[in-house]
Amino acid sequence: MAEVLVYVDHADGAVRKPTLELLTLARRIGEPVAVHLGAGAENAAQLLGEHGAVKVLGADAPEFTDYLVAPKVDALEAAARAVSPVAVLVPSSAEGKEIAARLAVRLGSGLITDAVDLEPGDDGPVATQSVFAAAYNTKSRVTRGVPVITVKPNSAAPEAAPAAGAVEELSVAFGEKSTGTKVVSRTPRESTGRPELTEAAIVVSGGRGVGGAENFALMEGLADTLGAAVGASRAAVDAGWYPHSSQVGQTGKSVSPQLYIAAGISGAIQHRAGMQTSKTIVAVNKDSEAPIFDLVDYGVVGDLFEVIPALTEEIKARKG
Ligand SMILES: Cc1cc2nc3c(=O)[nH]c(=O)nc-3n(C[C@H](O)[C@H](O)[C@H](O)COP(=O)(O)OP(=O)(O)OC[C@H]3O[C@@H](n4cnc5c(N)ncnc54)[C@H](O)[C@@H]3O)c2cc1C
Repeated sequence: MAEVLVYVDHADGAVRKPTLELLTLARRIGEPVAVHLGAGAENAAQLLGEHGAVKVLGADAPEFTDYLVAPKVDALEAAARAVSPVAVLVPSSAEGKEIAARLAVRLGSGLITDAVDLEPGDDGPVATQSVFAAAYNTKSRVTRGVPVITVKPNSAAPEAAPAAGAVEELSVAFGEKSTGTKVVSRTPRESTGRPELTEAAIVVSGGRGVGGAENFALMEGLADTLGAAVGASRAAVDAGWYPHSSQVGQTGKSVSPQLYIAAGISGAIQHRAGMQTSKTIVAVNKDSEAPIFDLVDYGVVGDLFEVIPALTEEIKARKG
């Protein structure tokens, strides 16, 4: 069976969920071969194997951490030339998209970004993209070279499918130009202790109705009782009430959690574009005519300053 390269996104060796989703999608079009760059390939191999990686090509070198993305592109290119895969799949993060674009140029291939689904086709894999604020789905196929496809997080539920996952060393020669930009310092983001927005199973989001930065403590309080991430509408973010990295929507992040709770958010099409594939949607809004109610599984017409604290207390009480 033809092999599919899957780029492993990991944080200090801990494989992130979007990679497991890619392995699940990759199995539809071939045999997944994971490409793990940096330290920890041996440790990651077990999880990657459990999710279907027939092998793990591992390379570790200081270039992967000391420079920007180009050394990673060198490695992925080396893997693609060694394996001749039917496709290369990369998570749709900012870094993933840059790696994928550079790889496609190097391989002379077509590139599809932000796919939300993948299926096999007679002439190669067919990718679905959700476009125009999720008003349309399009299906596309790369017609030249090895298809390079980036896939949005939460596009598939990771499924276990045990495979060998044996680690093989990938030999990489770094190009001179790839080490042209060195990372000189790093400042870790202060951890909130909450899950990453795009990977969280539950997201609690606040909008203009929250009314101020200080009131986001309410949303955080509810999120913490549920083990959820906190999101925000663009209106809330543009007002400076919450960081831009928390914006959900067309020009923010796409989330697809099991549960999405929107409070004080009207449900503009651009916001929906980033959350409407959530499994269960709950909205709290004091306007019964708010468009968000067209989309919800459960709607509460009420003042969020009453509903959210009451909900938080009730959840705490039930958890004991
Ligand atoms: C090109 C483009 C891209 C965009 N991208 C995004 C994007 O990525 N994400 C995004 O979110 N938006 C995006 N927008 C903006 C979008 O069109 C809306 O303006 C925005 O989503 C509105 O945010 P909101 O729902 O928080 O505010 P509003 O539309 O002002 O809604 C606030 C809601 O809060 C309710 N409310 C007020 N007080 C309370 C209370 N005490 N209790 C309960 N409910 C209350 C009101 O009834 C109202 O429904 C984009 C716009 C454009 C043009």
